[in-house]
Amino acid sequence: YKKSIIDMKLLLQEVVNFMAPQALMQHINISTCYEVNSYCNIDGDRNLLKQVLINSIKNAIEVMPNGGDIFIKFSNFSDNQVIITIQDQGYGIERENLSKIFDPFFTTKETGTGLGLAHAFQVVEQHEGKIEVESTVGVGTTFHFIFPQSHEIH
Ligand code: ADP
Ligand code: MG
Repeated sequence: YKKSIIDMKLLLQEVVNFMAPQALMQHINISTCYEVNSYCNIDGDRNLLKQVLINSIKNAIEVMPNGGDIFIKFSNFSDNQVIITIQDQGYGIERENLSKIFDPFFTTKETGTGLGLAHAFQVVEQHEGKIEVESTVGVGTTFHFIFPQSHEIH
């Protein structure tokens, strides 16, 4: 765990640029929306956070076999938070599975490992943040990654 000040807006843009070609091959468009003037620094491990974002976008891509849109939003709900929202138009999560998706090895995919969200949970916890999920079967799923802002004076 290597701590530094991370500009989450920049990191998010980097990850979106990295994932966009793979998404486009599946007829998925990733659109980003950054709240103006939002504060974007958090204290944390860049590589771990990058992995979390890549895995989450990968999950969104995997639940939209027929294409669609992934909406990514960057915002500050309150003064001391940095929030990344990833919304997909995929098949959604069954209510009885909502409490299991962060369990290691829980997967509903034929060739899934079930490790992506377990890792994300751990990383977000290390960063004193939290993950919130909203899902409607047949409509889509939204993940909010909520982090405390950097303690660095700004
Ligand atoms: P894997 O992708 O290998 O299955 P993950 O830990 O990334 O493992 O995800 C665990 C499970 O959570 C998935 O198998 C799926 O059932 C559910 N899940 C995760 N992200 C989404 C999503 N965006 N939409 C619907 N279900 C999801
Ligand atoms: Mg996954």
